[in-house]
Amino acid sequence: MSSFSSGDRIPLMTGGYAKVVRDAPLGSGGQGEVYLVEYKGTQHALKWYTSLKMRTSVEFKENIRKNVYDGAPSERFAWPLDVTEDVNGSFGYVMRLLPKDNEEFSDFLRTYRITKTEPPRRVPVKFASFPCLIRAAIQVVDSFAALHRVGKSYQDLNDGGISMDMSTGDIIICDCDNIAPDRTNFGIAGKQGYMAPEIVLGTKTPDVYSDRFSLAVILFKLFFRDDPFWGAKVCKCCNLTDYNYRKYYGEEPVFIYHPTDSSNRPVEGIHDNVIRMWGRYPQYLKDLFTRAFVDGLKETSKRPIEIEWMSALIRLRSESFMCSCGGFSFVSDDAEKSGECTCPKCGRSYPVLMLGKTRLPLAKDAVAYSCQTRFGSDDFEKITLKVVENRLKQGLMGLKNLDDCDWEVFLDGTRKSVQPDKGTEIVPGMRIEFDRKTSGTVLRRN
Ligand SMILES: [Zn+2]
Repeated sequence: MSSFSSGDRIPLMTGGYAKVVRDAPLGSGGQGEVYLVEYKGTQHALKWYTSLKMRTSVEFKENIRKNVYDGAPSERFAWPLDVTEDVNGSFGYVMRLLPKDNEEFSDFLRTYRITKTEPPRRVPVKFASFPCLIRAAIQVVDSFAALHRVGKSYQDLNDGGISMDMSTGDIIICDCDNIAPDRTNFGIAGKQGYMAPEIVLGTKTPDVYSDRFSLAVILFKLFFRDDPFWGAKVCKCCNLTDYNYRKYYGEEPVFIYHPTDSSNRPVEGIHDNVIRMWGRYPQYLKDLFTRAFVDGLKETSKRPIEIEWMSALIRLRSESFMCSCGGFSFVSDDAEKSGECTCPKCGRSYPVLMLGKTRLPLAKDAVAYSCQTRFGSDDFEKITLKVVENRLKQGLMGLKNLDDCDWEVFLDGTRKSVQPDKGTEIVPGMRIEFDRKTSGTVLRRN
């Protein structure tokens, strides 16, 4: 039975009220229900606690109030905006409404969702393109970096906590009610498959380090749509009882691609996604997963921190490319030697711009970002360079300066300036100084 009726006004702690728009909850779960409400003139969601444990915990409520007061660490959190007064022995909080076309991470993992229509239908859930997937991964990492920077941890990261726009890769972090100052915990441990071993074993309470473990699991599942610890060894036990879960995820977890222990490798016919995809990804990304799931299992400080994921993902975003034939691939390891990047589908090759360690294939519409061309910048969204086609000579590609400062281009002893909004021809061997401390070189072909 619904806790409210349409038109009910629920008083808020900051004054004013949230007005219930519809009788039936938008959703319900073990902890509570979510209602559509009007708050400050626009539609919002109200999470209302029905679980006895939640609704009677003074500390839990006080923590949400504190989070309302502190504000969201980034706009990507469905952060508590206001807390209600107590009504009938319970309370709730107001948050933004999720975009109606967003999908849940759990449905992405399953590759489809079931509609609530009669009869129910299966709707495929997948990203519009690989760049959307990378965008989602970058936003997840950036959100957790922002949260950890303000000294808080999420404590319960799992596949229910992320809502995604599959056409853009934009994400929203939901279920923010367990977020608390690091090392403060309100009894939540996490969800099976996402918890760090020390949480499964109950030797520690969730913190920034266990968040980082869960973050690595989320990223692994985002890229490979399989579980990092569910391999041959786990398949042998016919079901994951609490005893088995403790054993394979707490006491003796073995990463499915452990470099020296092959006892828990993925199984053909069951883990086909990861078997197909693992080999296609570059080593620098696989190294981070391996560190998180091998050394980082017990030594929590070895788990990759957000900035490490960020630089790997930004590099991956640049090193994945779309050929004019429609073929998609990652830059191969020999690109630096050969000085070019070749499409595995049609064989066409492209010049390569080296930006630090990153090899950017100069295919039409390829871009670089401020964090790659400006010293000290961490802006991973502002485009500062774009590969464009010459308006007069079809097929002739150039680099356009989309930044707000001049570039200096050096080639065979000559030097010229390229002003903002102007372009320069791509010539192997050319070096561009984007600012005094950052430059890039177009490789010579060998
Ligand atoms: Zn091609």
